[in-house]
Amino acid sequence: MYNILIIGPQGSGKGTQSRKISERLAIPAISSGNLLRAEVERGTGLGGRISSYIEKGDRVPSDVVDQVIAARLAEDDTVRGVILDGYPRTVDQAERLQVIMGDLGRQITHVVYLDVPDSEVVKRLAGRRVCSNSHCAVNYHAEYNPPKGKPHVCDVCGGQLVQRIDDHPEAIRHRLELFHRDTEPLVSYYRRQDILHEIDGAGSIDEVGVAVSKALGIP
Ligand code: AMP
Repeated sequence: MYNILIIGPQGSGKGTQSRKISERLAIPAISSGNLLRAEVERGTGLGGRISSYIEKGDRVPSDVVDQVIAARLAEDDTVRGVILDGYPRTVDQAERLQVIMGDLGRQITHVVYLDVPDSEVVKRLAGRRVCSNSHCAVNYHAEYNPPKGKPHVCDVCGGQLVQRIDDHPEAIRHRLELFHRDTEPLVSYYRRQDILHEIDGAGSIDEVGVAVSKALGIP
């Protein structure tokens, strides 16, 4: 049984690698960012509360995120395992996740930390393009990982590729500060629990994919 967390700065390849693992293990990849963006798109009252935080690169209040994650983890397709990307982002959230999982009779089995230097992250985010269809939301890079078919069109669903509203220099800088201050402490938190796998995330998508599979013991 795999209940995996993937942590790392924005642009470290969490979304890309979780999609690969999800396909290999046939378990859902759940991205807190995608869930929150879908909520904004639906135009719900909750979505209205969320959008200004995302645009500025601020964290959405934890009560909202916890609620969205707990509801998603309670869905049937998660019973045989899950890979979580973007949550938890703080030690507080990690503690609440333990409670959410405990209530479901589950526990986190592996934590993958993708270590990528800030300079590389900034380069990757500047060229990041995402599928605008929130049900798909595949990530591309204008230079390193462009779509194989038509330019600016998602290979998976045919959706239009766009730049994320929070991939502007100010929000990128702010998100990196938040990562170092509030998310990085999760590395020692999970190391103490002896479930941490540290991966050098600076290589190509395939190189990192091989290292992640090896760490997880996936053939
Ligand atoms: P991501 O797609 O993981 O880069 O997340 C995009 C944005 O969604 C973040 O900059 C936050 O505004 C919000 N977000 C995603 N996950 C969380 C979380 N665990 N806690 C608070 N805000 C979050």
